[in-house]
Amino acid sequence: MRYYSWMRVSAGEHISEDDLEMYAMGRIGDLETGPIEEHLLVCEECQDSLAATDELIRALRGALKEGT
Ligand SMILES: [Zn+2]
Repeated sequence: MRYYSWMRVSAGEHISEDDLEMYAMGRIGDLETGPIEEHLLVCEECQDSLAATDELIRALRGALKEGT
């Protein structure tokens, strides 16, 4: 099943940092998260990257809030 072309998540390929960031921020539509979630289920490396990205985003948001 092919969803789209821009995100190129396929076997043997990891999710790009950009895509992980978009995913962590909830900026990716329901249809497009399919291949990302499938890959995350089987790839510990990307799970770690996502966790790190998640933390970074939270830290950035926290910093923004404190700044105002
Ligand atoms: Zn991966």
